[in-house]
Amino acid sequence: MKKKIFLSISLIALLAIGMISVSFTQKKGNKPKKVIFLIGDGMGLTQISGAMSEYNGQNAFERFKVIGLSKTHSADDYVTDSGAGATVFSIGKKTFNGAIGVGADTVAYENIFEKLKKKNIATGVVATSSITHATPATFYAHVGSRNSEDDIAAFLLKGNCDIAIGGGFQFFKSRADKKDLFAELNKQGFVTIGDTVNTFKPQTATRLIYTLATDGMKTMLDGRGGFLKQATLNASDLLAKNTNGYMLMVEGSQIDWGGHAMNYEYMKTELHDFNETINAVLDKAEKEGDILVVVTADHETGGLALTVNKENRKSFIPKYTYNKHTGVMVPVFAYGPGAEEFAGVYENTEIFYKFVKLLGLK
Ligand code: MG
Ligand code: ZN
Repeated sequence: MKKKIFLSISLIALLAIGMISVSFTQKKGNKPKKVIFLIGDGMGLTQISGAMSEYNGQNAFERFKVIGLSKTHSADDYVTDSGAGATVFSIGKKTFNGAIGVGADTVAYENIFEKLKKKNIATGVVATSSITHATPATFYAHVGSRNSEDDIAAFLLKGNCDIAIGGGFQFFKSRADKKDLFAELNKQGFVTIGDTVNTFKPQTATRLIYTLATDGMKTMLDGRGGFLKQATLNASDLLAKNTNGYMLMVEGSQIDWGGHAMNYEYMKTELHDFNETINAVLDKAEKEGDILVVVTADHETGGLALTVNKENRKSFIPKYTYNKHTGVMVPVFAYGPGAEEFAGVYENTEIFYKFVKLLGLK
């Protein structure tokens, strides 16, 4: 008899656990309405380890519970560039280095912004490079070479990217073909702003091309200030006016440039700026509950090593191996509805397919 009672209690307990896990699974199965995808160009684990060990504020990377690793090689090269390295996120295909939104077969495959536009979902990019630079370009353009920035800028006329904020004034207003792209964008209903002093002012237009530098923006060391965080929050507010949801790509472009310059202070200050932006995005995501936040890199830059400091063994000496990209896996951090999809070790192309699945795209 006692045994029977014990059995039925165990059964009730099992059922309760089962119910809890069912509701947990349902919660896990929630789909995001909004996606903020942050790419730290050239941001490997040593960049994060080094920069964040010398940071006095909140470490945004430690706020994530879901972590993955992404294999970054391109179609032909073990070591990718930023064109191929971000084209995987926009079209889900490995391609040749330098490609922007085209496959290894040079075919312009439908990108994620085009897919989102079919569902009337808002799209945007914010970068500290020009908005026509390789990483942001892959989300709205299809060209064989990342160097064709005049051609890349013209893709914004297609209207698949509602908001673009960063540098790159020259690719709209002093083009080889002498066209005034801002005037053409105005005809398409875009508000255009060309300002080359790097001072961001929040905007209200829901279709906006806002350039704040001739080409890339100032470095943090040169006083760029809070641009990335301010522009990211403003862009997400503008995109949120579309009640169908949005996808915003935010790039910490110059973490990579610090690596190419083999300048640790440059990289570190850019990564700190990126960290502040991630913190602001996570604060927003915690409040709103329907934002999926994914942070990753296209590749590592500089083969950075944190080596022993004999003068102060609690510290380290950062050493760049060389001034180009490397083929090491890069981390992926995810928060919000659907975040658990990003756990594991996978090819960088998988990130595209995870977005497609979670956003119900075809
Ligand atoms: Mg980039
Ligand atoms: Zn690079």
